[in-house]
Amino acid sequence: MSKEKGSLSIHSENIFPIIKKWLYSDHDIFVRELVSNACDAITKLTRLNSLGEISLEDNEFSVKIILDKENKTIKIIDNGIGMTAEEIKKYINQIAFSGAEDFLEKYKDKGDKEQIIGHFGLGFYSAFMVAERVQINTKSYVENSESALWTCEGGTEFEIADGTKESRGTEITLFVSDEGKSFLDEYTLRSTIEKYCSFMPFPIYLEVVGKEPNKDEDGNVIIEDPKAINVTQPLYVKKPNECTDEEYKEFYKDTFKDFKEPLFWIHLNMDYPFNLKGILYFPKLNTEFDTLEGQIKLYNNQVFVANNIKEVIPEFLLLLKGVIDCPDLPLNVSRSFLQNDGFVKKISDYISKKVSDKLSGMFKTDRLSYEKFFDDISPFIKYGSLKDEKFAKKVEEIMLYKNKSGNFVTISEYLDLHAGKLENKVYYTTDIVQQAHYIELLKEHGIDVLILNHSIDPPFVSLLESKNDKVKFIRVDADLSDVLTDAQIESDTEETIKITEELSNVFKSALNKEEMKLKVESFKSNEVSAMIVLSEENRRMQDMLKMYGNS
Ligand code: ADP
Ligand code: MG
Repeated sequence: MSKEKGSLSIHSENIFPIIKKWLYSDHDIFVRELVSNACDAITKLTRLNSLGEISLEDNEFSVKIILDKENKTIKIIDNGIGMTAEEIKKYINQIAFSGAEDFLEKYKDKGDKEQIIGHFGLGFYSAFMVAERVQINTKSYVENSESALWTCEGGTEFEIADGTKESRGTEITLFVSDEGKSFLDEYTLRSTIEKYCSFMPFPIYLEVVGKEPNKDEDGNVIIEDPKAINVTQPLYVKKPNECTDEEYKEFYKDTFKDFKEPLFWIHLNMDYPFNLKGILYFPKLNTEFDTLEGQIKLYNNQVFVANNIKEVIPEFLLLLKGVIDCPDLPLNVSRSFLQNDGFVKKISDYISKKVSDKLSGMFKTDRLSYEKFFDDISPFIKYGSLKDEKFAKKVEEIMLYKNKSGNFVTISEYLDLHAGKLENKVYYTTDIVQQAHYIELLKEHGIDVLILNHSIDPPFVSLLESKNDKVKFIRVDADLSDVLTDAQIESDTEETIKITEELSNVFKSALNKEEMKLKVESFKSNEVSAMIVLSEENRRMQDMLKMYGNS
């Protein structure tokens, strides 16, 4: 074949600046694109093989990445399907043409098409974000095909000539530009590959040209088997009934570098009406701050897309740790599209439902474990309830509350326990030390007090009350006259009226508040001699003002 020069299709002039500046704001994405192309090329080949279109003699598939700092090149080499010169022109030059779609068209009725759809459209050209020149040296799997070499310097001009590749597959060479030089650092390159390619389906090796080999104490070179950077079969692609607890824990540790064991997990595995796989872990609370620190990694066909994408994953679930792989997501579109997409909403609803199902299931069948984990998961459930109405409804019945002795009850259990004593009231404390007197007093009256001392509790309590007019939360130091109605309390007696008047005067002049209302009641208690109470409404109002800095 003679050398051929040409010009990329007209769209490219507009497209390059877009790719460079807008589409991929993160330069490191070229790694994801080129390595996923390499894996796609191998997937296509294995697909042809299993369809009986070809018969492969070798089946050692891999992607090799070679870093050559001295020559400032990065090569990505696969032994996949390869390309002929014609195919390069078609798939690489005609940008607007999606190679994957064409391939699909040809084999569309023959199997698992999700596997071979290219993920991100303009992927290959992301190479120019870090390279001043890109070369494709490739040889097609088709017998007797000739190797072809494509070179382009990032403009609209390209060149195709005879290639030098002797075996099937593709070798992409990036002549790294100044902009991309940080990737010539082994550590940077390796961690970028780890970030995007950890779960890609074929083994990926990184070789560094001229790197001193490791030596033992006597100075002999240690011969090490090359070790793949990735896991080609991440645990979540397996069926849930094929995974052991140990494997789940191991996967958690490896993926999140968190050495605290997760509490429990949910394995998502769904084919219809959309494809979704993944594992969500409930992490242990970060006890120092009493917070959950989550991270949800989103994948598309084992290719990492991004962390914590709020558009796809309900915000409160970002407190969990997990991986979600959804090949059906249109991830090359803008975030605002994702936000408004009905399909994306369905995914998010599904995940949220799975989580509430898991929690209800545990509550019903294994209350003991559920209680054991509850301190760790309750901020999550409360936050989730505040953020997601459907979720709130699902978990309302399984929300537990702890009392001073460490026992857990649901609200309906609490109300049952106090049947006849409290109509629909739930007494709680925000501080068992400061409010000890009140707690004691209620105890004398056979009333249990629940602890609600987390910063998320006030809004959570308001939410519960707003949705359920049968429950009213009252802090132990609020108006207690209802509880103390029996013989223990006396009001409107000659004595209390007198003291009320006297004390009112004292308080009014001391606080300079004429409109202040005060009432003295006398009660009998072994533990408490006197106390000041503030009605629940007044106190909440004050707390709110304090929160907004108005007090
Ligand atoms: P997509 O992967 O979404 O199709 P790309 O721009 O990443 O888009 O790649 C365009 C096309 O170029 C691919 O569909 C494929 O046909 C071809 N191609 C790219 N890299 C390789 C490779 N390593 N081996 C074989 N073909 C490749
Ligand atoms: Mg691609």
